[in-house]
Amino acid sequence: MAKVKIATDWLAGCAGCHMSLLDIDERLVGLLELVEFTSSPITDLKHPPEDGVTVGILEGAISNTHNVAVARQMRERCQVLMAIGDCATFGGIVAMRNLCGTGAALKRAYLETETTVEGLIPDSTELGRPLEEVTGVDKVVKVDVFVPGCPPSADALYYAISELLAGRKPVLPPELFKYD
Ligand code: SF4
Repeated sequence: MAKVKIATDWLAGCAGCHMSLLDIDERLVGLLELVEFTSSPITDLKHPPEDGVTVGILEGAISNTHNVAVARQMRERCQVLMAIGDCATFGGIVAMRNLCGTGAALKRAYLETETTVEGLIPDSTELGRPLEEVTGVDKVVKVDVFVPGCPPSADALYYAISELLAGRKPVLPPELFKYD
C-alpha cells in the first residue's frame, strides 16, 4: 500500500511545535510504516513536492509576506491542511506584536534594546516584509484541522495524525488540549 505523504513547514514560530512532533518518539517508527514525510524544515528537503501531499502541517503565525507565501504554497500542494500550535491557530505569542504595532516592535527590537549599539532594522528584498497585523494561518488560507497548544502535546499531534490516517477528521478529546 502506498504511504500517505505528509509535508511540514513553519512560519513565524519558535520550532517548539516541531519539537513536539519529534516527541512522538518511538511511535514515529510505527507511523513511518504508513507515512512518508516528504519535506520539513528539519529535513534536507524543505518544500512540499509539486505533485502534492495528502497532509500539510504548518507551525507558526502569519507575520510577514514570506509566511503568506509559504502558507499558500502548502495549501496549494496538500489535500488536508493542519495548523498546529497556538501561533498557527490564532497568532499565539507572535500576535503580542499587535498590541504595540509592527513599527514600534521593530524599533524596540532592533534599535532600542539596552544592549543595542548602532542598531539597524533589517531591510532586504530577500526578507519577507512584516505585516501590520499578526494572524493565525486561517486568515490567509483555508485550514482543515486545528491542533492548538503551545506547543500541542506529542499525544495530541499523534492523535490528530492517526485520526487522519484512519480517514477521520480529528476532534481532539478534552484531555489532549493544552492551555499553557
Ligand atoms: S505555538 Fe508555542 S511552541 Fe508552537 S511555534 Fe508558537 S510559541 Fe512555539
